[in-house]
Amino acid sequence: MSTVAEERALVVVEDDPHIADLLDLYLREAGFRVLQASTGERGLELIDTHRPVMVVLDIGLPDIDGFEVCRRIRTRSSVPVLFLTARDGEIDRILGLELGADDYVTKPFSPREIVARVKAILRRGQAEPKADDTVIAIGDDYSVDLARREVTHRSTPVALATREFDLVAHLARNQGIALSRQQLLDAVWGADWMGDDRTVDVHVRQLRKKLGDELPLATVWGIGYRLG
Ligand code: CA
Repeated sequence: MSTVAEERALVVVEDDPHIADLLDLYLREAGFRVLQASTGERGLELIDTHRPVMVVLDIGLPDIDGFEVCRRIRTRSSVPVLFLTARDGEIDRILGLELGADDYVTKPFSPREIVARVKAILRRGQAEPKADDTVIAIGDDYSVDLARREVTHRSTPVALATREFDLVAHLARNQGIALSRQQLLDAVWGADWMGDDRTVDVHVRQLRKKLGDELPLATVWGIGYRLG
């Protein structure tokens, strides 16, 4: 468990000192304790040591890039990650890779926008049922443990990114009901999410890949998806 002092700690991984200082200034003003890292390796160290509530992660870094940093974060933590991207092409990679990014902001951005996104992501996290010990079965082969935030396939845990888990959990709570992409976006990503339907499709693809063919997740043509 994190200590009280660390509860509002944020790690900002950004090699451009001007942007890093600007973020530092605004995020501190918003009440966060900001820990800066100018390389990916240093960022990972800070994440391990301080267990922050969120990571703001630039993609272009001098040592390992943000994609790799995120991949390594996900091997050890489900801390929310907000990506900073400089190029449009990177957005497809963020959505397409199984990185478990929680959101992204394209440069140039206003520091206020970052603060708003950070707060929105943390609010979403708080809305999750914390003391909920419900385990939802999906058929005979899968179960979703909402408290542990864990999906198992024949009792073996499957590593999912934050949003992948949220998506399968929402589908599991609504088994047998066809949900539109917009309904899924609103429920899982929140009404303030800027992405489009493609986001849902990409995550569904990842779920099918990770959870396997036995997952009874059907595409409902013209609507969206249905579990069970
Ligand atoms: Ca950079």
